[in-house]
Amino acid sequence: MDDGEGLPIPRILIIEDNPEMAELMRNMLSPVRCQIQDARSGEEALDLMRQEAEAGRETDLILLDIMMPEMDGYEVIARLKADPLLKKTSVIMTTALDSINDKTLGLGMGADDYITKPFDPQELLARIDAVMRVRRSEKALLRRNQELAALIEISRVVTSSLDMDEVLEATIKGIREILQVEAGSLVLVDEEADRLVFRTTFTPEQGWVAGRTIEPGKGIVGYVVQTGETKLANDVDLDPHFSAEVDEEAGLTARAILCVPLAIRDRVIGAIAVINKLNGAFTNQDRELLQAMAASVAVAVENANLYSELADFAEELERSQAQLVQAEKMAAIGRLAASIAHEINNPLQAIHNTLHLSLHKGLEADKRLHYTSLAQAEVQRLIEIVQRMLDFYRPSRGGAEPTDINSILENVLALAQKRLEHGNVRVHTQLSPDLPPAPMVADQITQVFLNVIINAIEAMPSGGDLDLETALSKDGEWALVRFHDTGSGMSAEEIANLFEPFYTTKADGTGLGLAISYGIVERHGGMIDVSSQPGQGTTFVVQLPMRPAEA
Ligand code: ADP
Ligand code: MG
Repeated sequence: MDDGEGLPIPRILIIEDNPEMAELMRNMLSPVRCQIQDARSGEEALDLMRQEAEAGRETDLILLDIMMPEMDGYEVIARLKADPLLKKTSVIMTTALDSINDKTLGLGMGADDYITKPFDPQELLARIDAVMRVRRSEKALLRRNQELAALIEISRVVTSSLDMDEVLEATIKGIREILQVEAGSLVLVDEEADRLVFRTTFTPEQGWVAGRTIEPGKGIVGYVVQTGETKLANDVDLDPHFSAEVDEEAGLTARAILCVPLAIRDRVIGAIAVINKLNGAFTNQDRELLQAMAASVAVAVENANLYSELADFAEELERSQAQLVQAEKMAAIGRLAASIAHEINNPLQAIHNTLHLSLHKGLEADKRLHYTSLAQAEVQRLIEIVQRMLDFYRPSRGGAEPTDINSILENVLALAQKRLEHGNVRVHTQLSPDLPPAPMVADQITQVFLNVIINAIEAMPSGGDLDLETALSKDGEWALVRFHDTGSGMSAEEIANLFEPFYTTKADGTGLGLAISYGIVERHGGMIDVSSQPGQGTTFVVQLPMRPAEA
């Protein structure tokens, strides 16, 4: 209950064993706006105060007689101060004792003031007024403190969280608590759709509601977003901008509304609206508080927006990286193209010949069968070649799976077989038979091995030896794949640039093979090592972890 100016009516309890004295004090208090209760003893008073406090009606002030039978006033003060529910009650001692000792004893125990009987009504009222004034400012301070704490909490969530929805919900929750309102809404401008979106709304009937939209400029909220002005309407029916349709759209029933714009620099990006204060009317203080909160919310919204732009950008970057990887795959296949054409051409020739023979008139049935089954075997070979290429070609989907490294190497050798033959490269393999499967994205690692092998072939233009070796590291943590060629080798400077994108010494090179391979191996939690000297050949060691890399 309040007095219409926002100040609560003080509740005063007279604790006095003498009923005539109590009646006298009641009369003295009649000019004061207050609610008065009586108690005849300390025990009765403490019981009453506890009951009231539990019902949410705390006693502001007691006028406490010191000289009472059974429990005296000092005892009452002592019990009061020991009770967490009651200890904030203000105390004015009323006493006939005029000894300095008695007064200081009471004050020392926590009484706020004293007055000596018989007292003058004016003095009583003045002292009550003084105590209540202190009490009010203490309460205001406490309230301010709570508001500040909530503000700090909001800005903490708001600055630490980049998740927009979390920010917005925490904000409206905090605001409802601080301002003690029935409902609250956070509205953002959706420029693309040209609508105002109720991003988060708390309504008493439906709880959290999100995503409803209204036309820009509509209702009080629309007005605030359009003009950037704050609106405080304690009776919405008197406001020309109020629109019941907006209320309906948002799921609210507003009687009173306080709405402040959310602005970043000069741009209004939305608004916060609170609806129906639980006790009394919206004040200027509420307005200031909400404006302060809106300032930090606006920053948070901006942060979250920037963050999601950044995430989009990162996604875009990842996409273009994937495209680059795919392009390099095509380039690698391109380098094999000439030999693959041969590889396909040979079985095609064979098929052509055997089919021609089998169609020969007068051929015996078993001869015909022989030729067609030869053709069939060649077709099977063709299917395998194409399948291998397609497997390699297709962009990888999904994550790492336990994979046998040796079989990947064998696959790569099959892909490059003709190219190796044509380049006079002799391959020597020493594949460890007890290498356990290691977690990897098979087609990516295929790409790495293929790149390294093509580089080796290209480093031996007039042929040479290629040694391939797989092993498990001594500690069992790594799979090691070693590629050694007897090619041109590299200078220290070449080695330093090897993994740089676009570094190539070849007329038709892309310079991307090793850069992309490096990225792939790194994402697997592994590494690529190289040792080489001009004219001495080159050794690459690819090292892959046996346990899945942490994302
Ligand atoms: P590209 O093969 O398109 O040139 P890479 O990134 O695969 O691009 O290789 C970059 C460069 O590294 C090559 O141009 C070459 O100079 C050098 N290189 C790579 N592997 C070897 C090797 N086994 N022997 C000698 N030089 C090599
Ligand atoms: Mg290359």
